[in-house]
Amino acid sequence: MEITFTGKRALVTGAGKGIGRATALALARGGAEVTAVTRTQADLETLVRECPSVKPVCVDLADWDATERALKDVGPIDLLVNNAGCAMLQPFLEITQDSFDKSFDVNVKAALHVTQIVARGMKARGSGGSIVNISSQASHRAFKDHAVYCATKGALDMLTKVMALELAPYQIRVNSVNPTVVMTDMAKIGWSDPAKANTMISRIPMGKFAEVEDVVHAILFLLSDKSAMTNGAFLPIDGGFLAC
Ligand code: NDP
Repeated sequence: MEITFTGKRALVTGAGKGIGRATALALARGGAEVTAVTRTQADLETLVRECPSVKPVCVDLADWDATERALKDVGPIDLLVNNAGCAMLQPFLEITQDSFDKSFDVNVKAALHVTQIVARGMKARGSGGSIVNISSQASHRAFKDHAVYCATKGALDMLTKVMALELAPYQIRVNSVNPTVVMTDMAKIGWSDPAKANTMISRIPMGKFAEVEDVVHAILFLLSDKSAMTNGAFLPIDGGFLAC
């Protein structure tokens, strides 16, 4: 099955590092014109050096007004990946208002807002589109110290379903991928301790964490016409973790 994105315009949030960066590069290699959105300018500079066709946009997506300004002239987009996310791990009884607000601002509110901006254009052009939200296995299972993170991903899954419902009449599909642990900078915060990692791995039937490419391939499938009838779905990339 060959997937190409020639002639498509894609926007990837959180494209500076990890899964988002690999997705932006894979889309560009597949022929898409890619807009890469993230908040660290240095990451955008190295990304553009690696792939000069990428259009960089530097903004803190937790800031609603700054996002509006930064994406005002982004132009038509056919494919959107809401990937930017953060994980602030705290025992439940120590969760602060600040970490709750920051987590929801990025993991949920920014996905809603960027989708509004992009989908309004898709609707106006009548050209349809495909949107993938990067959720997590944490939307379906409880993990110690992950109360806020789990809650944001649960909220994102419901947002995916309602967006799928409301945007389908405009031929815009919305799906999520729900990975297990992928050893990016983010995952190192929670899973660097070998004892903790091994306990987690022992609960994954495939006996290993996911690789960045495992997630990217699923995102590309959901963005592409090969998944033309898939809408409102969540796709675990978890080696069977959620099946147990
Ligand atoms: P990384 O930390 O490696 O990369 C996250 C990217 O998002 C960074 O470029 C980061 O920029 C950017 N970002 C974060 N906050 C903002 C913001 N406010 N505005 C703009 N950009 C922002 O994370 P991953 O690649 O691991 O995670 C990507 C997604 O995958 C997240 O949604 C995460 O929840 C999800 N996920 C990850 C898993 C894992 O184990 N890694 C498992 C399941 C889901 P900066 O560095 O400048 O903050």
